[in-house]
Amino acid sequence: MRLSRYFLPVLREVPKEAEIVSHRLMLRAGMIRQQASGLYSWLPLGYKVLMKVQRIIEEEQNRAGAIELLMPTIQSADLWRESGRYDAYGKEMLRIEDRHEREFLYGPTNEEMITDIFRSYVRSYKDLPLNLYHIQWKFRDEVRPRFGTMRSREFLMKDAYSFDEDKDSAVKAYRRMFVSYLRTFRRMGLTAIPMRAETGPIGGDLSHEFIVLADTGESAVFCHADLLDKPIPGIDTDYEGDLQPIVDDWTSLYAATEDIVDMAEYEQAVPEEKRVSARGIEVGQTFYFGTKYSEPMKANVTGADGKDTPVHMGSYGIGLTRVLPAIIEASHDDDGIIWPVSVAPFEAVLINLKAGDDACNSACEELYAELADAGIDILYDDRDQAAGAKFATADLVGIPYQLIVGPRGLKSGEVELKHRKSGEREAVPLAEAVSRLK
Ligand code: ATP
Ligand code: MG
Ligand code: MG
Ligand code: MG
Repeated sequence: MRLSRYFLPVLREVPKEAEIVSHRLMLRAGMIRQQASGLYSWLPLGYKVLMKVQRIIEEEQNRAGAIELLMPTIQSADLWRESGRYDAYGKEMLRIEDRHEREFLYGPTNEEMITDIFRSYVRSYKDLPLNLYHIQWKFRDEVRPRFGTMRSREFLMKDAYSFDEDKDSAVKAYRRMFVSYLRTFRRMGLTAIPMRAETGPIGGDLSHEFIVLADTGESAVFCHADLLDKPIPGIDTDYEGDLQPIVDDWTSLYAATEDIVDMAEYEQAVPEEKRVSARGIEVGQTFYFGTKYSEPMKANVTGADGKDTPVHMGSYGIGLTRVLPAIIEASHDDDGIIWPVSVAPFEAVLINLKAGDDACNSACEELYAELADAGIDILYDDRDQAAGAKFATADLVGIPYQLIVGPRGLKSGEVELKHRKSGEREAVPLAEAVSRLK
């Protein structure tokens, strides 16, 4: 992509309305634009990162045996009356009436709808276990939308729903999602710690919030320091096998959010030098809630004994549009964002230091073509601008590698490779530049 033809509206000024660093940087790097309170457009650079995050989530959900589908954003009020949540949900729900005066709502979550799909097709225990997920926009009329897409009103969520014949197998399904979450967040460069959590309006009796530690996090959290550098399960994890040892290993160390923490228990379970009491961002949550929806909505399955019983369910959410600011909170410096390679909007930026110069232009054009041929997603800063401005933009938008081409280096057949994260710069022979980035 040539920057001269791209749409990257970076802001020089620090936006006044933004209170936290990720919000400031997302606005300044031209990733998002606020359209109304809690409603954002995703500009091209932000959208690219969002889609990379989505791809990782899909890969790890699929690996764990979940199956992707897509449900609508608008839901009928009647479905929610069946579960009793239409009245219970309160003001966070955006209620809508169509031209026939029928009642609808913009979905804040999808337990009811997925339960309806399940009961329409599945009858037998033989069709279980089943886990269905989608990645779809949600709307919650938050009392206080703030911090950009960290707490917005419309937001993109991955929500998975598991169906099992009894509690035992439902707990196994829960473990598959638990392990998948450990892998998902780490692949995005995040350390997300599973913490015991309250089950809230979804209800039920087993739940973890996945929390990224950050000073700007909205909840106070308490955990054992060893959780911070615990290795995550590998790519060869057998999701058909017994995952209890992995989950036990993670949950045996104390970790809880403020809603549920028992200070006496925390102090007893964690030696003083290992106590981490910090603030955290909830990037995901897992629930097992049994038959809370299947019972009122009559989602029954016939067991091996021929008897009908309500199916046991769990739900598992990840806020994609919250994950992005969480990554930025965890990975930035004074100059801007530092994207982990796995979610970076471009893999490298090619910086032409002297856009009018023949030697610089032809070296850059050649490199640009070769990099594209090598399958590297590259942003080419071909604009006629001062070097300082180009460096500032490259640092701000946080692309992991910068390939800098200037007249002086070219004379000795070299270009410069700058690593955004470490700031390290090295001279690389022109002929090796492409292979260095592969
Ligand atoms: P919070 O406690 O932050 O209000 P929640 O517990 O209400 O979140 P869940 O119902 O557990 O949210 O939804 C699953 C995930 O969706 C959350 O873990 C979070 O990552 C994301 N999420 C929830 N509300 C928002 C929001 N207003 N803006 C962005 N992401 C959100
Ligand atoms: Mg909430
Ligand atoms: Mg919460
Ligand atoms: Mg939650």
